[in-house]
Amino acid sequence: MMYRNWLPDTVAGRIRLYSILMACLPLLFVVIVLFFFIRNDTIADAQRTLVEQSESHKLFIEEWFQGRKNDAAFLAQLPAVRQGDLEQCRHIFKAFDETHEDISAVVMVGPNGKTVVNSIDSAVVDVSDRKYFIRARAGHPHVTKVITGRASGQPIIIFSHPLTRADGTFSGLVFLASRLTAINALMNNLRFGSTGETYILNREGYMLTESRYLDQLKSEGRVSDTAVMQIKTNAQILGDALAGLQPQGPYADYRGARVLGASQWTKGGSWLIVSEIDYAEAIRALNPFLAALLGGFIITLVCLIPVLLRLTHSISQPLELLNKVTRDMAAGKFQRSGVDLSFTDAPKEVGQLVDTFSSMHTRVEETLNRLEEAAVTDQLTGLPNRRFLMEEGARIVSIAVRAKQPCSLFMMDIDHFKKINDTYGHVVGDSVLKQIADALNDIARSTDIVARYGGEEFAVVAPGADMALARNLAERLRQGIASMTFNTDERPISCTVSIGIADNTGRARFGADEYEDMLARADKALYHAKTSGRNAVRAYGDTDALGLPEAIEANS
Ligand code: GH3
Ligand code: MG
Ligand code: MG
Repeated sequence: MMYRNWLPDTVAGRIRLYSILMACLPLLFVVIVLFFFIRNDTIADAQRTLVEQSESHKLFIEEWFQGRKNDAAFLAQLPAVRQGDLEQCRHIFKAFDETHEDISAVVMVGPNGKTVVNSIDSAVVDVSDRKYFIRARAGHPHVTKVITGRASGQPIIIFSHPLTRADGTFSGLVFLASRLTAINALMNNLRFGSTGETYILNREGYMLTESRYLDQLKSEGRVSDTAVMQIKTNAQILGDALAGLQPQGPYADYRGARVLGASQWTKGGSWLIVSEIDYAEAIRALNPFLAALLGGFIITLVCLIPVLLRLTHSISQPLELLNKVTRDMAAGKFQRSGVDLSFTDAPKEVGQLVDTFSSMHTRVEETLNRLEEAAVTDQLTGLPNRRFLMEEGARIVSIAVRAKQPCSLFMMDIDHFKKINDTYGHVVGDSVLKQIADALNDIARSTDIVARYGGEEFAVVAPGADMALARNLAERLRQGIASMTFNTDERPISCTVSIGIADNTGRARFGADEYEDMLARADKALYHAKTSGRNAVRAYGDTDALGLPEAIEANS
């Protein structure tokens, strides 16, 4: 049989396996489907929240930008600035610089592009080639990209506003150099959850604000002291944003971590505000759901197992017993009337199988009993037959020999029986045989075995009988038969028997063992009885006037 190893080889095992599969597979299917629905829901939820967050971050940042632009416009409108009162300007700029933490410098530039007032030092720098100067000359305020500050070496943004004289002609500009500290602080304040992060990228993918994971980036050797302008990423969120999309599902962020995120362009599409949270944290909301599913699964199993055990027991218990009884039968061990084949909760088919088997078992048992009895019983007389005599006699004699107890054996033959058959027919002969058998049985002791040896010959095994007792018993048998009359159609007739006795005290001469030897000696004695004139009892070794025993031994 080509069964796979995992397939149990018993009915009970298979029912258990298939039932558990039948219960678990649909459950598993439902769980998987539910899990994906709820997981997608959870992800969509998280992404919605992230989009909302990045939108509100955008408002904050735009407000901040507007604030700085307003600051530049405010300074440009001050009378002292417009009138070119440099001494007062210096005071105002210094005061403004000191009171605004994220302002690193406030500078006035003359119409020739050279700095005239500077809140931090008095060095004169020519900015006539800068874009903000060119824009101011054209009458426009300007905000630069993130650039590296000349004095501080820090990333800064310059907010500039043109200056005009009363007649409307260009007289230079005012600019604020603003550090990104305020935006950084803002981004720090906007962190959420234990992994949530908001940061800003420019279109090239450079990080413009500090990373929440600066320590990790340092330990990986990716940055030395800050992530600003040092981390350049091509994470999926940037590509999506450049294509005008929000990311769908988890992706790898600039650290390589699996995250969910959303983004918003701001500053006219030059800055990308990114809000992200680790995927693992976002779907942690699924844990109670998973726990409930697992609980449901376990409860289902716990409820299922007793039912399964009962079912498999009700099938396998009768089958196992049937199996054992049939195995025993096949091995020749037929268990007599000790097999209880009644099961109350077996399924109908199994119950029928057991019932049928049970009645078959009973019939086989009856037949066997009959056969066994017939095998050792003589049909005509009802006496034990020769087979029984050979087995049981040998057993009794060997017990007696071992116990050193006396035991005798008679061989008996009806005298001139042929004549009865010839004269009155076989039916009468049979009837005489039967009546003699009954008589022998009546006269013998209950412990004696009276058997039909064959034809009109009988044998008696008399355990416990020594020679004296045996002669006595044999004589009673001989006289009992001789005194009987048997009815025939013509007239009542009588019949005699001759008996030869052997006991178990003689030395073995004729047979292979004690019993066979006794049979042989009893047969010799029977021959002696016949030759002595019939209707006689002779024991082996008896002598008479003619000295015949010597002759018998000599013959043998
Ligand atoms: P003896 O005294 O020498 O024993 O003479 P006998 O005639 O009894 O001896 P013999 O062995 O010549 O004959 C035995 C007869 O017994 C022969 C047979 O027909 C008869 N006989 C044997 N078995 C049966 C039987 O079952 N039924 C009947 N009716 N006769 C039987
Ligand atoms: Mg005979
Ligand atoms: Mg005879």
